[in-house]
Amino acid sequence: MVEPLLGRLNHLFHASQFPFPFHARLPSPFINSEPPSHARKITNTDQDFSLILLRKTSPIALFTRILPNQILIKRMFFELTEEQLAVQQAARDFAQNVLKPGVIERDREMKFPKSEVRQMGEMGFMGMMVDPEYGGGGMDTLSYVLAMEEISKVDASSSVIMSVNNSLVCWGLQQYGSEEQKAKYLPKLATGEWIGSFCLSEPEAGSDATSQRTTAVDMGDHYLLNGTKNWITNGGTSSVHLVMAQTHPEKGHKGINCLIVETDWPGVVIGAKEDKLGIRASDTHTIMYTDVKVPKENRIGEDGFGFKFAMKTLEGGRIGIAAQALGIAGGAYELSLAYSKERAAFGKPISQHQAIAFKLADMATDIEAAKLLVYRAAWLKDQYMDYGTASAMAKLFASETAMKHTVEAVQIHGGYGYVKEYHVERLMRDAKITQIYEGTSEVQRIVISRNVLNGQLYIPIWNGKVVGMEV
Ligand SMILES: Cc1cc2nc3c(=O)[nH]c(=O)nc-3n(C[C@H](O)[C@H](O)[C@H](O)COP(=O)(O)OP(=O)(O)OC[C@H]3O[C@@H](n4cnc5c(N)ncnc54)[C@H](O)[C@@H]3O)c2cc1C
Repeated sequence: MVEPLLGRLNHLFHASQFPFPFHARLPSPFINSEPPSHARKITNTDQDFSLILLRKTSPIALFTRILPNQILIKRMFFELTEEQLAVQQAARDFAQNVLKPGVIERDREMKFPKSEVRQMGEMGFMGMMVDPEYGGGGMDTLSYVLAMEEISKVDASSSVIMSVNNSLVCWGLQQYGSEEQKAKYLPKLATGEWIGSFCLSEPEAGSDATSQRTTAVDMGDHYLLNGTKNWITNGGTSSVHLVMAQTHPEKGHKGINCLIVETDWPGVVIGAKEDKLGIRASDTHTIMYTDVKVPKENRIGEDGFGFKFAMKTLEGGRIGIAAQALGIAGGAYELSLAYSKERAAFGKPISQHQAIAFKLADMATDIEAAKLLVYRAAWLKDQYMDYGTASAMAKLFASETAMKHTVEAVQIHGGYGYVKEYHVERLMRDAKITQIYEGTSEVQRIVISRNVLNGQLYIPIWNGKVVGMEV
């Protein structure tokens, strides 16, 4: 079983320009020790790659990036680090103390959480994964997921603002932007001084994002941007848009570019705010661009990189939305558990009726399963491994869990669940969007089935590129 894997890995290493060697994962007794004698060492002297692989290691070995001459072995390990626990606690406190008091009013009045978002920026929640060099927190994806989860338990409107800024705008810029673009935009975005929007969807291009009608005509030193984007989160408050637009229609999706657009530039018009079912305090708008002059230096990546940029960025964004769904489900569960112990019917707490106890058991089980998928997707991303399938699975399962169990939470609360004061009806309305944006549940199933059928589950990546493969 091992030989074909070794052949495949060697092929991948040859096909790539990896600066660091990869080591196969060893079983736990060998953690922090020298590899055992029956480990096989393969060294590619030309390119300074080395691979140590136990003969009996599972062919679905996981790989981890290591520095030259170091052995860093990852194992299955469920405890959070002290830093991650501190982030989780800070987010929990912020959600309870700052977000919860006004959450019902903001939802009812569709009021953007302006001062709350400013405080989120001050606390470091708006650019958590951004390099400290650019004013961010330099944290891992799992820390970001933990913060998203805690904030979403209380206020999913605030968490989507945070999610778009962190995982679509800041991450996309940091990963694929030029040095000048990063220096100019990231410090403001990472601190929440500016908020960003990610503008892909159009009236005629939702799930099929290849059908972009917005155009970016090459005028030599600048692009002329024309078109309409809809459903844009942070649309009324953002200072920067990352806009996908077609430059070479004859090349299809390979002709799309991503342009950084400042919202005070002439020709940018913000449409009315959408009146939504859920996440009502978040700011969702249609945006019109008419003859907007965008300097060439504001294009992200090579000419035609825009569609790949959007797809790779959304892969990470889905982990954020999965965390949002996990939080919504967790919030509904916590409220239901507490309520079921307090509310009595037929002479005992309703939690003592098996019908309610079993609902709680199903909620707890599904939430734990969702948590494992979401945390694992974040972990894969932090290990520079392919996380496309994992993030789609996490988003699909967490969002379906959120929808299913927020409905059950309303049921557990009876009539009280149907009014705003008890929070669960809002969580139920908020849950629905997690099955729709950043790829509907149907689109996640397309991604998962395609990758499963292609056997592309665990392909290492470096710098956003799948090693040795076209994405
Ligand atoms: C509140 C909100 C915020 C949003 N924020 C943003 C944002 O910030 N930036 C942004 O770019 N977009 C944003 N969106 C847009 C969102 O990503 C799209 O709504 C979503 O991708 C679905 O596209 P659509 O609405 O055009 O639905 P459609 O693509 O028209 O889909 C309609 C239905 O058909 C199904 N369907 C479509 N194709 C297939 C297929 N091949 N197989 C099976 N089923 C299929 C879909 O799953 C869905 O059930 C937001 C949307 C909302 C509602």
